[in-house]
Amino acid sequence: MTDELTVQGIPVSDLAQRYGTPLYVYDGDVLRSTYTGLRDLLDPHIDVFYSAKANPNMSVCGVLRSLGAGMEVSSLAELMVAQRIGVDPADIIFLGPGKTVAELHACAELGIHAVVCESLDELKLLDSIAPESGMPVLLRVNPAFSSKGSRLAMGGKPRQFGIDEEILLGAGPLLRQLRRVRVIGFHAYLGTRILDAADIVSNTQGVLDVAERLGAELDVPLATVDFGGGFGVPYFDNESPLDLAATTAGINDVVARFRRRHPHCRLITELGRYLAGWCGTYVVRAQYVKQSRGEWFVVADGGTNHHMAAVGIGSFVKRNFPIRSLTHYDAPADRQYTVTGPLCTPNDVVGAKVKLPEIRPGDLIGVQRSGAYGPSASPVLFLSHGHPAEVLVLDGTPHLVRRRDTAADLIDRHVLAPQSYHHTGKG
Ligand SMILES: *Cc1c(COP(=O)(O)O)cnc(C)c1O
Repeated sequence: MTDELTVQGIPVSDLAQRYGTPLYVYDGDVLRSTYTGLRDLLDPHIDVFYSAKANPNMSVCGVLRSLGAGMEVSSLAELMVAQRIGVDPADIIFLGPGKTVAELHACAELGIHAVVCESLDELKLLDSIAPESGMPVLLRVNPAFSSKGSRLAMGGKPRQFGIDEEILLGAGPLLRQLRRVRVIGFHAYLGTRILDAADIVSNTQGVLDVAERLGAELDVPLATVDFGGGFGVPYFDNESPLDLAATTAGINDVVARFRRRHPHCRLITELGRYLAGWCGTYVVRAQYVKQSRGEWFVVADGGTNHHMAAVGIGSFVKRNFPIRSLTHYDAPADRQYTVTGPLCTPNDVVGAKVKLPEIRPGDLIGVQRSGAYGPSASPVLFLSHGHPAEVLVLDGTPHLVRRRDTAADLIDRHVLAPQSYHHTGKG
C-alpha cells in the first residue's frame, strides 16, 4: 500500500526514476484547465497573452498557444520560442526596458502585433530603424497612480519601466514627428502577485482611464490597449486564492463600459504566473537527514539554485511555499524539518521549519504551485549544478520537455586560455 503522489495516474517515483532528480513536473491537465477556466469567464473581446518569462519552456508555451493564447516576449530566445510553436505574429508583443537594435530588427522582420516602447529614446531609435512599411508600437505608461494590492509594484513610482504619464503628456510634438512608427495604443503593467479581485479590477479601470485620457490628449487612436494583469497564485499560508469569478466579472464590467466608447479597440491582458504557476511541482530527493543544535534538516539534491522564489518574496518573515512529502503524500505531517539544497550558503533554504511526515534519505519532496518563475528566475549556474530536467505530463503520457544540463554541458561553455594553466614557476 503506497501513499505516494501520482500525476495523471503516474507515480511520481516513476518520473523521478526515469528522468532523475531534481526535476520539474508540469501537469498538462492543470495547465490547460487554468487557462480554459479563465478564458471561459473572461469577456471574449479580451485577448489573453502569455508572458513567456514566467516559464519559457517551449512545450508549456505550446500548450497555451494550442488553446488560443497569444504571447508576450522579452528576448530573442522567447521570440524564437513563439515562432517555433507557431504563434501568429499578430498575437505577439515584445516588451522590456533594455531592448537592443537586434531585437527591434527581429520584431520588425517578423511583423509582430506591436513593440511595447518603454522610453522616448527607444521610440526615436525605433523610428530610425523601422521598415518603410511602418512599425506598430504600444506606449508603455507608468501611470501617475499607484497600483493596488501588488506585492511588487512596477508603476506609479520611479521605475525603469515605461514612460511616466506626465512625460507622455508633453510628448505630443515628438509623436507628431514620427515617420515610420505608428503608435496604436497604450500598455501598462502595474505589478504582480495580486490576490484581491477588487484591486485587479480597480487597476484595470485605472489603466483604461489613463489610456483614454492619453489617447485624447495626444491624438493617438486606441487600436490596442494592453491593461496588464498581475493575477497572483497563493504560495504562503496567510494567502488565499484569487476569486476568479469576481475578478473576471469586475474586469468584464469595466471593459464593457470602455468598449461602448471604443468598440474597435483590441484589449489584451498579459499573464504569466497565474497561467503557469499552478501546474508545476519542483521535485527533489532527500539526500541526508541530519540534526544541528536541536533542529532537523533535510538536505536535498536541489534547492534555491532551481527555485529561488522559495526563499520568500518581499517578506521579512520566511514563509514557505506548499511543501509536501511526495513519497508519503497522505501521511500526517507530524515532524518539523528545514528543507535545504546542495548549495554552500545558509540561504539555500527551500522551506524553513516545514511540517512534514518523517523523511528518510531517498524520499521525494515536492514544492507545489511552482510552474512559474522556477529555473528561469533562479541562479541555476551556482555551484555549476545547471538546469534541472523538466517533464510535462500530457494526456497521461510524460514528455521530457527540457534535458537536464550535464556536467559536460556546463564545462563546454568554458574556454581555457592556453596560458592559464601553465605553471609560472612563481610561488
Ligand atoms: C513579468 C511581466 C508580466 C507577467 O507577470 P505575472 O505577474 O507573472 O503575470 C506581465 N507584463 C509585464 C510587463 C511583465 O514584466
